[in-house]
Amino acid sequence: MDCLFCKIITGEIPAHKVYEDENFLAFLDINPVNLGHTLVVSKIHHRNLLDLPENLASELGPLLKRLAQTAKTATGADGLNIIWNNEPAAGQLIYHSHVHLIPRFADDGFEHWHGKIKPSTEELTEIAEKIQKSLQN
Ligand code: 5GP
Ligand code: ZN
Repeated sequence: MDCLFCKIITGEIPAHKVYEDENFLAFLDINPVNLGHTLVVSKIHHRNLLDLPENLASELGPLLKRLAQTAKTATGADGLNIIWNNEPAAGQLIYHSHVHLIPRFADDGFEHWHGKIKPSTEELTEIAEKIQKSLQN
């Protein structure tokens, strides 16, 4: 399989690695939003969160918390975004599961996406019920 991040994991393609354990690798994004922008990838190839096995998903939570805390301290950032793009509609460009850890500074100008639509109360109720129902299946 011709996967860029698999090649970074095996060392075939160089990257600035910041953390490694049995199941995950973290390295700097080549085209960062801010200095310290890090990608956390699963060592075994998975397309994205939607096909990541449960055991890896639960292992990743505490690791992200640790890396987030460390990145904030090391970069002197004011805050931090954790972003996970899943599928093309959500902006995924590399189809090997990865989480973006982005140090943020109060005046960095990086824009958020919220507030794009103004749903009615009925629409909010309807979608909340759909999500709750799906969770029961
Ligand atoms: P996505 O849009 O799939 O969530 O993000 C892919 C990320 O991979 C982008 O932020 C991009 O800058 C980063 N990237 C693409 N090619 C390389 C590379 O060769 N090395 C590193 N370190 N990051 C890369
Ligand atoms: Zn891969």
